Amino acid sequence: MEDIDAIEQLPGVGPATAEKLIDAGFTDLMSIAVSSPQMLAEMADIGVNSAVKIIAAARKQADIGGFETGDVIMEKRKLVGKVTTGSEALDELMGGGFETQAITELFGEFGSGKTQIGHQIAVNTTKPVEDGGLDATVIFIDTENTFRPERIIQMSEGQGLDPAEVLSKIRVARAFNSHHQMLLAEKAQGVAKEHGVRCLVVDSLTAHFRAEYVGRGALADRQQKLNKHMHDLIRFSDLFNAMVIVTNQVMSKPDAFFGDPTRPIGGHIVGHAATFRIYLRKSKGQKRIARLIDSPNLPEGEAVFSVVEEGVID
Ligand code: ADP
Ligand code: MG
Repeated sequence: MEDIDAIEQLPGVGPATAEKLIDAGFTDLMSIAVSSPQMLAEMADIGVNSAVKIIAAARKQADIGGFETGDVIMEKRKLVGKVTTGSEALDELMGGGFETQAITELFGEFGSGKTQIGHQIAVNTTKPVEDGGLDATVIFIDTENTFRPERIIQMSEGQGLDPAEVLSKIRVARAFNSHHQMLLAEKAQGVAKEHGVRCLVVDSLTAHFRAEYVGRGALADRQQKLNKHMHDLIRFSDLFNAMVIVTNQVMSKPDAFFGDPTRPIGGHIVGHAATFRIYLRKSKGQKRIARLIDSPNLPEGEAVFSVVEEGVID
């Protein structure tokens, strides 16, 4: 709310402009301060000249931050937490497990194991640190109605964990459309402050967006909304030293815009926002292959794992 008040009080911003800005996803001074005039003008449907003035005013008030020395960044890196996936091969591919302060994108065709890994990381995040967890609460935003407490119970029992305790540490919200999904991601911050959340799963990140914004004409709008959503998720991972896991289905038929049928939905917007991108594909039976295709500090590579009743294993 303070953020919204601050926007309304910017010089040159009347109530109507404030509403346009907030509607377009500019809900704090920082998001305005770092925007380009063209982008702000287009997204909030205001004149470029007003946008220039509003950005200048926001820059005066927002703390844009400065440069940090490498050793300060290294101190922050030391706080990175890792969660085991349950598969040694997959952990090794990821440099010891999934990381906090990062967005990990799992993309692949239907049945490739995206939701299973989401469940497994949720269970494992609740475990003590010495057992490869973060002893923390998880938020799970479920957009396809595929969250199954039964799977959480099986995966917990598979490791000798108390299923009731694990379930009590996973907070699930069903998102009914993309707008709802975005609101839930914002609301997650409040929950995280209260409950010590270190993991946020959004499964699926893109399904609603894909279903709702159909055709070429809707693409710009879709990408704009996705961009805002991704930035909220990045902020979440930063604020709470949390891992954010998003799932993304590859397109089964060529996309009007991106063409390539094996490309994940959301294109460059999701790709640039993700720290790690893992491409999953089915192999024989329970076997799945994970390919790390983008990482700031790890080599590309592949790992074979399995999905069984007890969860993700080698
Ligand atoms: P998606 O990538 O579409 O999210 P999932 O992660 O839901 O796919 O993977 C579904 C697959 O997980 C199933 O086809 C099955 O191979 C496996 N799976 C799901 N539940 C179980 C279970 N209880 N026991 C063993 N394997 C399971
Ligand atoms: Mg799924």
